[in-house]
Amino acid sequence: MKKNIRACLFNLDFPQSFWQKEKEQAARYASLVANSPEITQKLKNWQDTSLDDKKEVIEQSLKIFEYVYGVVPKLEFYTEAQERERFVKLGYPEDVHVNAANYHEGVISFNTDRLQESDNLFAVSVPFHEGTHYRQDVQSFGDALVDRIFQSSVTNLLAYDNERNDKQDKNYKDLYTMLPFEVHAYGVQEYMENELIENTGIQRTNNKDTPVVKRIHNKGYSMAKVNQYRSR
Ligand SMILES: [Zn+2]
Repeated sequence: MKKNIRACLFNLDFPQSFWQKEKEQAARYASLVANSPEITQKLKNWQDTSLDDKKEVIEQSLKIFEYVYGVVPKLEFYTEAQERERFVKLGYPEDVHVNAANYHEGVISFNTDRLQESDNLFAVSVPFHEGTHYRQDVQSFGDALVDRIFQSSVTNLLAYDNERNDKQDKNYKDLYTMLPFEVHAYGVQEYMENELIENTGIQRTNNKDTPVVKRIHNKGYSMAKVNQYRSR
């Protein structure tokens, strides 16, 4: 069954008119972030920014998101310890994958341990990515095909893998990067990041290879990688 789903997903794409509109809105978000000194000052001094200030950047980014798209998910923060405790209660293995951030039923959750050690674009870019998943849930994109794609339940297949499987597993990555939800979210995310870098001249800081960063993944595929998996 998964093989069949892969075959279907491989041939699925969004209309050009959809991408065009999505790019315009992503550029607007990037430009509003670039014109917010409160945010850009912190992005420039990310290493010296406190955790509270980093949380504030996420909140400010979501305000801009709401201004551009008219909708915004709820925001929550959790620690790695809290997440592991929750997983233990759910009966998952001890070494189960903990996400840097995730979106579930209208709420974006951020891992604060991971946020503290993130690169500078993370607090602007990840709310945008997860917010895109929220839009897929609650908005109409004015195109019957696009709306139908987002109403389908292929994401449930991922949810199964998501909690239990190894994130480095080739089959997992293969399926994940083919999901239309992710092709859309990574597509606009990458476009927005490039616009932001161009507008501000701020470069992405090195994401240190610390144990926390290794343990708590931000999947962060680039579109090149998504396309690489799609084109096999
Ligand atoms: Zn995603």
